[in-house]
Amino acid sequence: MNLELNREKHLKFLKRHLLILPSAQQGNDVNKMAIIFYSITALGALDADIPTAYSSSLPWICKHYVKVKLPCHSEVFSAFVGSLSTAAPTVPCMSLPNTLFAMLTLKVMKCEDFFTSLLDKESLGLFLSKLQCPDGSFASVLDMNQPEPSPVDSTDLRFCYIATAILKLIGCKSKEEFGQFIDVDRLIDYMLTKKCDIGGFGDYGEPHAGYTSCAISAFSILGCLDRLDDDFRERTVDWLLSRQVSKMGCMSLEEGHNPYHDDDEHGGFQGRENKFADTCYVFWCLNSLSILDKASFNNACRDGAAQEYLLTKTQNTLVGGFSKNDQDSPDLYHTCLGIAALSLMQGTFDGVMCIPKGWS
Ligand SMILES: [Zn+2]
Repeated sequence: MNLELNREKHLKFLKRHLLILPSAQQGNDVNKMAIIFYSITALGALDADIPTAYSSSLPWICKHYVKVKLPCHSEVFSAFVGSLSTAAPTVPCMSLPNTLFAMLTLKVMKCEDFFTSLLDKESLGLFLSKLQCPDGSFASVLDMNQPEPSPVDSTDLRFCYIATAILKLIGCKSKEEFGQFIDVDRLIDYMLTKKCDIGGFGDYGEPHAGYTSCAISAFSILGCLDRLDDDFRERTVDWLLSRQVSKMGCMSLEEGHNPYHDDDEHGGFQGRENKFADTCYVFWCLNSLSILDKASFNNACRDGAAQEYLLTKTQNTLVGGFSKNDQDSPDLYHTCLGIAALSLMQGTFDGVMCIPKGWS
């Protein structure tokens, strides 16, 4: 059994996605910032020399940071747009995901210039403050006509996480500092409404490993993990451990042979109950565990089943990259999160911010 990470193949796979850099091609792909972020953070986790290789692309990435004034409003907002192809950037083009993807990319690329001189904390903080909804959640874009959360946008735990992560990147550390820009208590109250009885976070009482990681990471960033009581934390840790597909039923709770066991998924994690194992959920589940309970995280890593699942079932050793499962072709998202999960297990990855350690 080959238990090696095929680093060279993965480097090639990731660098192919970065051919959209540098500036020669404007690119209309709305997911451009996501593509750049997934590639760069995975390259960083593989210890590639990104600052040297891609430094010429930094000004082009920074150009996506824009300041915009709404007609009839005096306030100036700043954030990242996903594309430069429109003649004049407008408020609806600025979004939370583009802003976090770009800022994390600039951190991994060690572009301190952006953080020390280009970044205008006040106008970016103002953008975030206007995106917060009355219930405490966040939309990802503003309304076209007035600085209010776009009514057509969804609000969920992902955007709560993204908003807090951006504030951390602009230097907020204490609850008071976050409170300069957003209503922290309302945000916490909103996230608490997404707690599920069985443990974890999700909509309609059904926990989801992705939302759970977003919520727990956001609580961690805000320094408010103590708002999750011991009982709930315990149920959440059990729920997360039970997402690991094993031969013996759920890893933590159930005894005996698992009648649904599929050898090809052994060691992998599922995002919800009764779903197939999937590369990305190894990361989402382990990240939550590592924040909530280091001992459980270490236990989940110790037997090597999760690592073996990634390296033998979803790693593609021909063209590089990782796929969602042992059937699909490799894709960038699962490649990034597969490499992130392996780095998290090795202790070299900051799972809360989803970039390699050593960025701050
Ligand atoms: Zn997935």
